[in-house]
Amino acid sequence: MAKGSMATLKINRRAADKARAGHLWVYRSDVEGDVEATDALVTVVDGRGAVLGSAIYSTTSQIAARMVSRQGELSRAQYVADVRERVLAAVALRKAVAPLGDGDNAQRLIFAEADGLPGILADRYNDLVVLQLLAQGTAKDDVREAVVAALREALPGALTVWERPDQKIVKLEQLDAPQAGALFSSHDEAPAKTVFTINGLKFAFDAGAGQKTGAFLDQRLNYAAAARAVKASGRTGKALDVCTYQGGFALHLAQVCERVTGVDSSRAALEVADANLAINESLRAETDWIEADAFDLLRAYEAQGEKFDAIVLDPPAFAKSKRASAGALRGYKEMNLRAMKMLEPGGTLVTNSCSHHVSLEEFTAVVGEAASDAGRRVQLLEISAAAPDHPEVLTMAETRYLKCLICRVD
Ligand code: SAH
Repeated sequence: MAKGSMATLKINRRAADKARAGHLWVYRSDVEGDVEATDALVTVVDGRGAVLGSAIYSTTSQIAARMVSRQGELSRAQYVADVRERVLAAVALRKAVAPLGDGDNAQRLIFAEADGLPGILADRYNDLVVLQLLAQGTAKDDVREAVVAALREALPGALTVWERPDQKIVKLEQLDAPQAGALFSSHDEAPAKTVFTINGLKFAFDAGAGQKTGAFLDQRLNYAAAARAVKASGRTGKALDVCTYQGGFALHLAQVCERVTGVDSSRAALEVADANLAINESLRAETDWIEADAFDLLRAYEAQGEKFDAIVLDPPAFAKSKRASAGALRGYKEMNLRAMKMLEPGGTLVTNSCSHHVSLEEFTAVVGEAASDAGRRVQLLEISAAAPDHPEVLTMAETRYLKCLICRVD
């Protein structure tokens, strides 16, 4: 055991090698011996007792520890001071790589491991910041106060910071259920609602509603790329956005197409999509929303001989675990195959996967299989990932998740 008063977490050789290579998680199955995790911070050591760093510890999660420092014996006070510095750095990075402009005032400000802040997420919607503290080590008042203070310092002007616990994580991590609500507001009464803009389009946001954090800001640049590609294809008649959620791709396509249909199984999401449509008066397309299962609807459309000029596929992460990835690949294959069969020659397919467990190579291969089964020649025009305010940890494949392929289908 390492010297000092902090709890020590001994991990096996494989995990120690991974940690040395820059991986930031320790799985419970890699922990050796008993853990006397009395504090939320532990010193992680290899089998010989050599220090690998300090981590926030969870008594319940399969990810037993998340590294926060290369130094052992990190005190809680030092950790909280580091959190403050890293929040300032995270916001500074966004100002540099994802600056707000006339038509953009939403961005991810804090992205957990990618900003050296495991268990902390923050998204900005106009002047409303939604904060999530998602781990036993971070859902605590010292971290909460440090993050809010740093956000206030980094974002002068009108600001409301709203904490929005993720109920699934609260249960999983057995957190003392934090109250959802404003932690700080420069207004007399903290507004839960706002309207934010991305790529010049308006979107409604309500911090008090629903389970989800808000919009999928990671797709921001891909929305614009999709609209650009469809416009460039010259095929701007009918577009279909499958798994539209609150209309992200659909509203962008409505700038360039004649008719847009957005499909989702969630009525609540489509109600927001419709409200978003209503506040963007300049959109030219005739747009409608269909509440349906994506697979059922694609099957029905195919049977009816429906054709589209552009189709976006953005299903949820089918694979929630590595073991489930075969099933996920079948799901992607079926969805892409049906979409390709319904595209007019020269049409555009924008196909996404947000599953951590399906790699870009696997996803590209399965879209390729769909193309050959459909008997269509498909040109891959663009490959992209999440917007740069959602950075990846290069040494952790788990942080690479979003794949967006823009294809021309002949
Ligand atoms: N394209 C969206 C994000 C999609 S997230 C955007 O850019 O904002 C995935 C969406 O798929 C969710 O809204 C979810 O409600 C929907 N969904 C999940 N399963 C579905 C199914 N079987 N059929 C249709 N929609 C589904």
